[in-house]
Amino acid sequence: MMFKAFLIKYGEIGLKGKNRYLFEDALIRQIRFALKGAGEFNVTKEQGRIYVDALSDYDYDEVIGRLKRVFGIVAICPVVHCEDSRWECLTQAVGDYIDAVYTDKHFTFKVESRRADKRYPKRSMEINADMGEYLLDRFPELSVDVHKPDVLLNIEIREQTNIYSLSIPGPGGMPVGTNGKAMLLLSGGIDSPVAGYMIAKRGVKIDATYFHAPPYTSERAKEKVVDLAKIVARYSGPIKLNIINFTQIQLAIYEKCPHEELTIIMRRYMMKIAERIAREDGSLGLITGESIGQVASQTMQSLAATNAVCTMPVYRPVIGFDKNDIVAVSEQIGAFETSILPYEDCCTIFVAKHPVTKPNIRIIERSERHLEGIIEDMIEEAIASREVVMCE
Ligand code: ATP
Ligand code: MG
Repeated sequence: MMFKAFLIKYGEIGLKGKNRYLFEDALIRQIRFALKGAGEFNVTKEQGRIYVDALSDYDYDEVIGRLKRVFGIVAICPVVHCEDSRWECLTQAVGDYIDAVYTDKHFTFKVESRRADKRYPKRSMEINADMGEYLLDRFPELSVDVHKPDVLLNIEIREQTNIYSLSIPGPGGMPVGTNGKAMLLLSGGIDSPVAGYMIAKRGVKIDATYFHAPPYTSERAKEKVVDLAKIVARYSGPIKLNIINFTQIQLAIYEKCPHEELTIIMRRYMMKIAERIAREDGSLGLITGESIGQVASQTMQSLAATNAVCTMPVYRPVIGFDKNDIVAVSEQIGAFETSILPYEDCCTIFVAKHPVTKPNIRIIERSERHLEGIIEDMIEEAIASREVVMCE
């Protein structure tokens, strides 16, 4: 294995004082979590940088794949160490590096060196010039371009010298754990996993709630949601998934409320229940995969009606996305194949032929009065009997 370490670059905008170290510590935690099971690594912070040092063999593609899912990482630079930084050893090592990494040497380059160790006999400018000359001698196909090089060759001289030139883009965003926690209403569809991913990308830790209606919805439909939570967890870190048995509530709504209002009323109870669990567990907001106008329950009037039952902020990161835009993210994060598996959802089982598209909140509230006296116990029971699955 050629690369013994990775230099992790992260966004530094707005990172000052205390924020900076919280950000870095969270990033280190997330990197450690992401690399669990991929080998033995030492993840450390050193002079405003994060290094991942490999202590065992590892699979390069696997490790890069995992690091590319850690929010907060802007770039991953695979690093070669040179133990002996005396000039002859260093030139040899840098030349060998270029030889191994670039089979085709028809490119332009620039050397950029830094001395952390100021006792090093050459100054940075000298190292750049002399190393450039050495490389041009050794590989005549190379040429220098100091303005727009194809390859920026970095040499950092410290106790142990780092050589790197590759920069693999990371996902950006902020490390999960730097922005509190929110509760995702996770269904088996395409939109809600994408919504969870997008909010997690802003550094928010995610819990999730799924409503099912056995025996009207199957065990496989539930497994699919667990699988989706695991897919989102590859980015967000572990997700605590609350599985709520919604059957009694749905049947009661079906029996007592006008059928064209079923979906809206159901959605309102989902929000209420999710909000209660969220509050108990320290979440600061709810997340849904709603997008304006996508279906009857997502018109502006319907959104207003579902929103009205919560006091917590509801984050809807795909609100302005077309379905195609959402599908693109779903594919990119590897959720799409699972999302389109054809299992029934509890929302689709009790749907009316002609649902209201412009619900009036007062009328909906009047319909809900038919549930007075029974619904409170049902909600308590649904929350108390919930199943909790840790998805990671
Ligand atoms: P999705 O693709 O995320 O299922 P959708 O297009 O099917 O969304 P709806 O069924 O109207 O839209 O659901 C809107 C949002 O309500 C979902 O994105 C999700 O956040 C939440 N939701 C819907 N059904 C459930 C459920 N069974 N359990 C938990 N949340 C749900
Ligand atoms: Mg759905």
